[in-house]
Amino acid sequence: MNTIDKSKFPKVVIIGGGFGGMQVASKLEDKPVEVLMLDKHNYHTFQPLLYQVATGSLEADSIAFSARKNFAGQKNFRFRNAEVLKINPESNTVDTTIGEIAYDYLVIATGSTTNFFGNKDIERFAMPMKSIPEALNLRSLILQNIEEAVLQKTIENREPYLNFVLVGAGPTGVELSGALAELRNHILIHDYPELNKDEMKVYLVDFMPRVLSAMSEQASHGSQEFLKKMGVELLLNAKVETYDGNVIKFADGKSIKTKNVIWSAGVMGVIPDGVSKDIVVRGNKIKTDSICRIEGSSNIFAIGDVAAMITDETPKGHPGVAQVAIQMGNHVAKTIIQLINGEPTAPFKYFDKGSLATIGRNKAVADLGKLKFQGFFAWLIWMFVHLISLLGFRNKIVVFINWVGSYLTYNGGARLIIRPFVKPGVSEEEHLPKTVD
Ligand SMILES: Cc1cc2nc3c(=O)[nH]c(=O)nc-3n(C[C@H](O)[C@H](O)[C@H](O)COP(=O)(O)OP(=O)(O)OC[C@H]3O[C@@H](n4cnc5c(N)ncnc54)[C@H](O)[C@@H]3O)c2cc1C
Repeated sequence: MNTIDKSKFPKVVIIGGGFGGMQVASKLEDKPVEVLMLDKHNYHTFQPLLYQVATGSLEADSIAFSARKNFAGQKNFRFRNAEVLKINPESNTVDTTIGEIAYDYLVIATGSTTNFFGNKDIERFAMPMKSIPEALNLRSLILQNIEEAVLQKTIENREPYLNFVLVGAGPTGVELSGALAELRNHILIHDYPELNKDEMKVYLVDFMPRVLSAMSEQASHGSQEFLKKMGVELLLNAKVETYDGNVIKFADGKSIKTKNVIWSAGVMGVIPDGVSKDIVVRGNKIKTDSICRIEGSSNIFAIGDVAAMITDETPKGHPGVAQVAIQMGNHVAKTIIQLINGEPTAPFKYFDKGSLATIGRNKAVADLGKLKFQGFFAWLIWMFVHLISLLGFRNKIVVFINWVGSYLTYNGGARLIIRPFVKPGVSEEEHLPKTVD
């Protein structure tokens, strides 16, 4: 076992270099602690732009940033590329893929993963999009299926390859369906002259009566209008029953032939073993007190998507958005120093800066406090906020240049099938029947 000795400074171990974990580490710079970040990836992922990677308009590298590079100048920071397997609160250690590691303070910032709500068939055949590898898989699948459509000689045979069904009309579903509609409207005619663009259909499905149900009525209404204009077919109040890789069926008996189902209908917290089941609540989140400390512990914290701070003000916890993770990360860094110094701590208060979602070129919706608006100005704000939030100067420049290029040419992105996709557990034959009729 690889045991790291305790140093003279208390050691803060952070599991996860997402929005929350990165914030904790950076706020502990120059503080009298040793910081060790553990992540199974050696990079931070900017999840809000995953959909642009999946639709081939951005390269994966431009939305990822090396954790080591980010903290290169921070003397009290160390990084290990390792997965945490188990937390041992009784011995203040974690078991990882590189051995056992001791901590004085532990921050669980492991985020969330796709929730298929126990439907194994949907999990087997539908595509999630929570990480860069998953977005790259999706990019390959989309392009492979369009290539496959080209080989088919009848409309009927092309149909399942050109039907795209997005389940879950939150920001991810809305943004991805908008991007697919733009791919159809602007790219398909250039790159695939053999295909009639009207044969490509994009369906956005939700069991709620409106899209973006976490945003205002105005934002929902505005985005629905944008989506309809772009040719996205909305299936609201619709519950998915089954998907077998070829046909998706709904509770009302309707069905769609498709080889492209993208699942963004739910997320659940990612919790390493060792956390008591008694404090795991709805959405597989860890219940914390008002300072983000997990119930029953004096030195373990949970922040971001994996945390549920249940209070009178937040009976369902906080929303799963980057700002919550960032603000909790900031708060926990302060709290740990207060605890080390024996000072009083303060409860966490979330400051909601508002919500934005983009639907496509010149089209976005914004709920900024009482200000609710949509269209070009909302789209400019969306782009600005995303650019300044991206980690790394190079990434900001690359994304900006890509966006300007796409705006001017209607044809951005390389759209390459670098690594063909076959879903694990699904045979190549089952997934991609190469039958030319
Ligand atoms: C497609 C998509 C679009 C989104 N768009 C927006 C948006 O527009 N605006 C917004 O505010 N929010 C958006 N979100 C939500 C936002 O990205 C999350 O709320 C945020 O990432 C949560 O931050 P976090 O630090 O809790 O977790 P994450 O950022 O998910 O980071 C978790 C980290 O933990 C690591 N990890 C997990 N388990 C282990 C383990 N056992 N061992 C080691 N490392 C581990 C992971 O590799 C990852 O790096 C979006 C999410 C997705 C998926």
